[in-house]
Amino acid sequence: MLIKCGECGSSVSDQAASCPKCGFPLRRVRAATIVQASPEVQTIEQTGKSYKALKVAFWVIILFVCPILFFNGFIGSGILVLILAVIGEIFINIGIWWDHG
Ligand SMILES: [Zn+2]
Repeated sequence: MLIKCGECGSSVSDQAASCPKCGFPLRRVRAATIVQASPEVQTIEQTGKSYKALKVAFWVIILFVCPILFFNGFIGSGILVLILAVIGEIFINIGIWWDHG
């Protein structure tokens, strides 16, 4: 397969380490691009997953832990946990917006 040299624009084999016309290093540039691209994608996927896990954790607290505290008479603790969970939820939404928006 032929590719275009990024330096002089002539057609070069993609198997060539460098451009035969100008000596521009083709392989090294491509390898560097691939190495740079993949960890970035992984980081985004990992942060996305951890945000989702945190969101689920906070919703479990809001929907299950707070009612349990309220029913057992721990009204003050229940309100405190509810407020903290809601604030956590808001910060996660800001974090998701910051990463992907
Ligand atoms: Zn060239």
